[in-house]
Amino acid sequence: MYRSVLTNRSFVRWANENVVVLVSHNELGHDAEIVENATGSETERCPLYPGMTCRDHLNAAVDVDNARDEDLVKIPFVELCPNTWLVRPDREVVRVEEKDQFEPAAVKKQVTKLQEDLGKTLSPTRYLEIRNLLARGDAALDDEAWRRALEDWAAVAKLEPEPHASLRALLEARLTLLDEAVEFQIEDLTEDDEPGADTLKAARTLFAALAVPVLGRTVPSRERLGLFLDAHGDG
Ligand SMILES: [Zn+2]
Repeated sequence: MYRSVLTNRSFVRWANENVVVLVSHNELGHDAEIVENATGSETERCPLYPGMTCRDHLNAAVDVDNARDEDLVKIPFVELCPNTWLVRPDREVVRVEEKDQFEPAAVKKQVTKLQEDLGKTLSPTRYLEIRNLLARGDAALDDEAWRRALEDWAAVAKLEPEPHASLRALLEARLTLLDEAVEFQIEDLTEDDEPGADTLKAARTLFAALAVPVLGRTVPSRERLGLFLDAHGDG
Protein backbone atom coordinates (compact mmCIF):
# COMPACT_ATOMS: atom_id res chain seq x y z
CA MET A 1 0.00 0.00 0.00
CA TYR A 2 2.74 2.42 1.03
CA ARG A 3 4.72 1.50 -2.05
CA SER A 4 1.84 2.69 -4.20
CA VAL A 5 2.52 6.23 -2.95
CA LEU A 6 6.26 5.87 -3.52
CA THR A 7 5.89 4.54 -7.05
CA ASN A 8 2.88 6.52 -8.26
CA ARG A 9 4.49 8.45 -11.12
CA SER A 10 2.32 11.53 -11.13
CA PHE A 11 2.46 11.76 -7.33
CA VAL A 12 6.25 11.41 -7.33
CA ARG A 13 6.50 14.13 -10.00
CA TRP A 14 4.27 16.41 -7.94
CA ALA A 15 6.20 15.63 -4.73
CA ASN A 16 9.53 16.47 -6.37
CA GLU A 17 8.18 19.92 -7.24
CA ASN A 18 6.41 20.66 -3.98
CA VAL A 19 7.98 18.92 -1.01
CA VAL A 20 11.35 17.59 0.11
CA VAL A 21 10.82 13.91 0.86
CA LEU A 22 12.75 12.26 3.68
CA VAL A 23 12.23 8.55 4.28
CA SER A 24 13.23 7.29 7.71
CA HIS A 25 13.17 3.63 8.68
CA ASN A 26 15.08 2.55 11.76
CA GLU A 27 15.37 -1.18 11.14
CA LEU A 28 16.98 -3.19 8.45
CA GLY A 29 14.80 -6.31 8.52
CA HIS A 30 15.37 -6.58 4.78
CA ASP A 31 18.43 -7.33 2.72
CA ALA A 32 19.94 -4.68 0.51
CA GLU A 33 19.86 -5.44 -3.20
CA ILE A 34 23.11 -5.42 -5.08
CA VAL A 35 22.73 -3.76 -8.46
CA GLU A 36 25.16 -3.31 -11.27
CA ASN A 37 25.33 0.25 -12.53
CA ALA A 38 26.15 1.53 -15.98
CA THR A 39 29.92 1.40 -15.44
CA GLY A 40 29.74 -2.22 -14.35
CA SER A 41 30.51 -1.64 -10.68
CA GLU A 42 28.13 -2.91 -8.03
CA THR A 43 26.24 -0.73 -5.57
CA GLU A 44 23.78 -1.45 -2.80
CA ARG A 45 20.17 -0.41 -3.06
CA CYS A 46 17.28 -0.61 -0.62
CA PRO A 47 14.60 -2.96 -1.94
CA LEU A 48 11.80 -1.13 -0.08
CA TYR A 49 12.41 2.52 -0.92
CA PRO A 50 13.31 3.43 -4.48
CA GLY A 51 16.35 5.61 -5.00
CA MET A 52 18.19 5.17 -1.71
CA THR A 53 20.40 2.83 0.26
CA CYS A 54 19.42 1.24 3.57
CA ARG A 55 22.12 3.38 5.22
CA ASP A 56 20.23 6.50 4.01
CA HIS A 57 16.97 5.56 5.73
CA LEU A 58 18.78 4.41 8.90
CA ASN A 59 20.64 7.73 9.13
CA ALA A 60 17.43 9.63 8.53
CA ALA A 61 15.78 7.71 11.37
CA VAL A 62 18.52 8.82 13.78
CA ASP A 63 18.04 12.42 12.61
CA VAL A 64 14.26 12.56 13.00
CA ASP A 65 14.21 10.69 16.34
CA ASN A 66 16.98 12.65 18.03
CA ALA A 67 17.35 15.93 16.14
CA ARG A 68 20.82 16.21 17.61
CA ASP A 69 22.33 18.39 14.93
CA GLU A 70 21.61 22.08 14.86
CA ASP A 71 18.53 23.03 12.83
CA LEU A 72 17.09 19.50 12.76
CA VAL A 73 13.46 19.10 13.72
CA LYS A 74 12.38 16.34 16.10
CA ILE A 75 9.51 14.26 14.77
CA PRO A 76 6.99 13.06 17.40
CA PHE A 77 6.87 9.35 18.10
CA VAL A 78 3.62 7.49 17.45
CA GLU A 79 2.98 3.78 17.68
CA LEU A 80 2.25 3.35 14.01
CA CYS A 81 4.29 2.19 11.08
CA PRO A 82 4.53 3.75 8.65
CA ASN A 83 3.58 7.23 9.74
CA THR A 84 3.86 10.46 7.78
CA TRP A 85 4.61 14.00 8.86
CA LEU A 86 4.91 17.36 7.17
CA VAL A 87 7.62 19.66 8.52
CA ARG A 88 6.75 23.25 7.76
CA PRO A 89 9.55 25.70 6.93
CA ASP A 90 8.83 27.41 10.26
CA ARG A 91 9.64 24.07 11.97
CA GLU A 92 6.07 23.25 12.97
CA VAL A 93 5.37 19.54 12.53
CA VAL A 94 1.98 18.43 11.19
CA ARG A 95 0.80 14.86 10.99
CA VAL A 96 -0.68 13.30 7.87
CA GLU A 97 -3.48 11.20 9.32
CA GLU A 98 -3.23 7.43 9.09
CA LYS A 99 -6.11 7.13 6.65
CA ASP A 100 -4.65 9.81 4.36
CA GLN A 101 -1.02 8.79 4.13
CA PHE A 102 -1.49 6.26 1.33
CA GLU A 103 -3.77 8.54 -0.67
CA PRO A 104 -1.87 10.79 -3.11
CA ALA A 105 -4.90 13.08 -3.49
CA ALA A 106 -5.30 13.51 0.28
CA VAL A 107 -1.59 14.24 0.79
CA LYS A 108 -1.61 16.75 -2.07
CA LYS A 109 -4.67 18.46 -0.62
CA GLN A 110 -3.08 18.76 2.81
CA VAL A 111 0.19 20.14 1.42
CA THR A 112 -1.67 22.61 -0.82
CA LYS A 113 -3.69 23.86 2.15
CA LEU A 114 -0.53 24.14 4.23
CA GLN A 115 1.15 26.18 1.49
CA GLU A 116 -1.86 28.50 1.39
CA ASP A 117 -1.50 29.05 5.14
CA LEU A 118 2.21 29.75 4.75
CA GLY A 119 1.68 32.29 1.99
CA LYS A 120 2.80 32.58 -1.59
CA THR A 121 6.05 31.03 -2.72
CA LEU A 122 8.94 33.04 -4.16
CA SER A 123 9.80 33.17 -7.84
CA PRO A 124 13.32 31.91 -8.63
CA THR A 125 14.48 35.45 -9.51
CA ARG A 126 13.11 36.91 -6.31
CA TYR A 127 14.59 34.01 -4.37
CA LEU A 128 18.07 34.85 -5.71
CA GLU A 129 17.69 38.54 -4.87
CA ILE A 130 16.64 37.64 -1.36
CA ARG A 131 19.37 35.06 -0.93
CA ASN A 132 22.00 37.65 -1.89
CA LEU A 133 20.60 40.27 0.48
CA LEU A 134 20.47 37.75 3.31
CA ALA A 135 24.06 36.64 2.66
CA ARG A 136 25.28 40.25 2.61
CA GLY A 137 23.34 41.00 5.79
CA ASP A 138 24.84 37.94 7.47
CA ALA A 139 28.36 39.08 6.54
CA ALA A 140 27.57 42.52 8.00
CA LEU A 141 26.30 40.84 11.17
CA ASP A 142 29.60 38.94 11.45
CA ASP A 143 31.41 42.28 11.11
CA GLU A 144 29.15 43.78 13.82
CA ALA A 145 28.01 46.30 11.21
CA TRP A 146 24.52 46.42 12.69
CA ARG A 147 23.06 49.12 10.49
CA ARG A 148 24.20 47.47 7.28
CA ALA A 149 22.79 44.12 8.40
CA LEU A 150 19.45 45.70 9.33
CA GLU A 151 19.30 47.61 6.05
CA ASP A 152 19.78 44.42 4.03
CA TRP A 153 17.12 42.58 6.00
CA ALA A 154 14.79 45.58 5.71
CA ALA A 155 15.36 45.43 1.94
CA VAL A 156 14.25 41.78 1.99
CA ALA A 157 11.11 42.71 3.90
CA LYS A 158 10.50 45.51 1.40
CA LEU A 159 10.73 43.10 -1.55
CA GLU A 160 8.24 40.81 0.17
CA PRO A 161 5.93 43.08 2.20
CA GLU A 162 3.87 40.05 3.21
CA PRO A 163 6.57 37.45 3.69
CA HIS A 164 5.47 33.85 3.88
CA ALA A 165 5.98 32.08 7.19
CA SER A 166 9.40 30.60 6.41
CA LEU A 167 10.87 33.88 5.20
CA ARG A 168 9.43 35.65 8.22
CA ALA A 169 10.91 32.98 10.52
CA LEU A 170 14.25 33.39 8.77
CA LEU A 171 14.26 37.16 9.30
CA GLU A 172 13.06 36.84 12.89
CA ALA A 173 15.90 34.42 13.67
CA ARG A 174 18.45 36.89 12.29
CA LEU A 175 16.95 39.77 14.26
CA THR A 176 17.22 37.68 17.42
CA LEU A 177 20.88 36.94 16.69
CA LEU A 178 21.63 40.61 16.15
CA ASP A 179 19.68 41.60 19.25
CA GLU A 180 21.65 39.13 21.38
CA ALA A 181 24.96 40.33 19.99
CA VAL A 182 24.03 43.99 20.55
CA GLU A 183 22.90 43.21 24.09
CA PHE A 184 26.52 42.49 25.08
CA GLN A 185 27.62 45.91 23.84
CA ILE A 186 24.72 47.56 25.65
CA GLU A 187 25.64 45.84 28.91
CA ASP A 188 29.15 47.27 28.63
CA LEU A 189 27.90 50.75 27.78
CA THR A 190 25.31 50.93 30.53
CA GLU A 191 27.24 49.41 33.44
CA ASP A 192 28.37 52.79 34.79
CA ASP A 193 25.86 54.79 36.82
CA GLU A 194 27.69 57.92 35.75
CA PRO A 195 28.79 57.27 32.19
CA GLY A 196 31.49 59.46 30.67
CA ALA A 197 31.17 61.49 27.48
CA ASP A 198 32.81 58.76 25.39
CA THR A 199 30.37 56.15 26.64
CA LEU A 200 27.38 58.36 25.92
CA LYS A 201 28.71 59.09 22.45
CA ALA A 202 29.16 55.38 21.74
CA ALA A 203 25.65 54.71 23.10
CA ARG A 204 24.19 57.40 20.82
CA THR A 205 26.01 55.94 17.81
CA LEU A 206 24.72 52.46 18.59
CA PHE A 207 21.20 53.78 19.18
CA ALA A 208 21.27 55.44 15.74
CA ALA A 209 22.70 52.32 14.06
CA LEU A 210 19.79 50.28 15.37
CA ALA A 211 17.15 52.71 14.08
CA VAL A 212 16.33 50.65 10.97
CA PRO A 213 13.02 48.83 11.41
CA VAL A 214 12.64 45.31 10.01
CA LEU A 215 9.20 43.67 9.87
CA GLY A 216 7.74 46.83 11.35
CA ARG A 217 9.86 47.07 14.48
CA THR A 218 13.33 47.85 15.73
CA VAL A 219 15.20 45.32 17.88
CA PRO A 220 14.12 45.20 21.56
CA SER A 221 17.57 46.01 22.98
CA ARG A 222 17.42 49.43 21.31
CA GLU A 223 14.56 50.41 23.61
CA ARG A 224 16.69 49.64 26.66
CA LEU A 225 19.50 51.74 25.26
CA GLY A 226 17.00 54.59 24.68
CA LEU A 227 15.95 54.45 28.33
CA PHE A 228 19.59 54.64 29.38
CA LEU A 229 20.15 57.69 27.17
CA ASP A 230 16.95 59.31 28.49
CA ALA A 231 18.08 58.72 32.07
CA HIS A 232 21.28 60.57 31.33
CA GLY A 233 19.63 63.53 29.68
CA ASP A 234 20.72 62.34 26.26
CA GLY A 235 17.69 60.80 24.62
ZN1 LIG B 1 16.33 -0.53 3.28
